[in-house]
Amino acid sequence: MQPFAGAEPLVGEVVALRTFRVEESGLLLPLYSEQSWTSEQNTATCTLGNHQAPADNCDCGFYAYGSPRAAAQNRGMRYVQAVVSCWGGVVAGTQGVRAQHARIDGLWLHPEAPPWLRKRVAARYPSTRLYDTVDALLTAHPLSVLPSYTPVGPRDRRPQLAAGIAGSAGLALGALPLDVLRGSAVLWACWLAAVGLVGAATLWCCLGARFPGRLVAAGIAFALTAWLVAPLFGLAGWLLRLPVLRGALVAVGSFLLTLRPHYFPVVTPKRERVYYTARA
Ligand SMILES: [Zn+2]
Repeated sequence: MQPFAGAEPLVGEVVALRTFRVEESGLLLPLYSEQSWTSEQNTATCTLGNHQAPADNCDCGFYAYGSPRAAAQNRGMRYVQAVVSCWGGVVAGTQGVRAQHARIDGLWLHPEAPPWLRKRVAARYPSTRLYDTVDALLTAHPLSVLPSYTPVGPRDRRPQLAAGIAGSAGLALGALPLDVLRGSAVLWACWLAAVGLVGAATLWCCLGARFPGRLVAAGIAFALTAWLVAPLFGLAGWLLRLPVLRGALVAVGSFLLTLRPHYFPVVTPKRERVYYTARA
């Protein structure tokens, strides 16, 4: 059974927990979509297949966690927590549900959320109650307990560690001059394998993958591919390294922003790009 799939479809309303990004205008946005939720009934559509969301062999539908512990995996939960009622087609897994219809019943914003933003959110979502504490939110809107939910154990850090080591090794390989790479059979073999892997990952994210956020992942995989093939182009290869260098700068910058006092992430509406800014 998977985190958000596997159990029999459910009937009736399921109350679950999720997070949103908050746009400057007060609209609530999912993490990987620019499609804001409305104050009343929201209906999920599938962008991947010609079927009603959520489908069994797809990743579509509105996601919501079954417990605060499961939801805590999501960084956005630090700032925004929403209790949602889900109905229609609902697929349950070990960590939460994917649903066809959902409505935001209650909302908690971190105390650092500026008053002007709270007002805008309240105006956009008149039927959603705002709470000052997570406890008050969860007391007023108890989450459904489904038989498919399993307790979340201590987080396994090994996959993260392995990814970190593999990533660092890949970055090191792409930073080497070509004659050094070709000078060692082992390095050359590793480099070829790495190029094959990230290239395949890029293709898979673009064409085969169905998880939310696959386009973001495709962008990262593509930037890594460019970084890895850079040694083939000598000095001009530094142009290919720019996407990764730029990404690293943005990542460090965004992280430093979160350390600022009174930080609360607000999404600035942009035609194509969306990023977080801090506001006191
Ligand atoms: Zn689908």
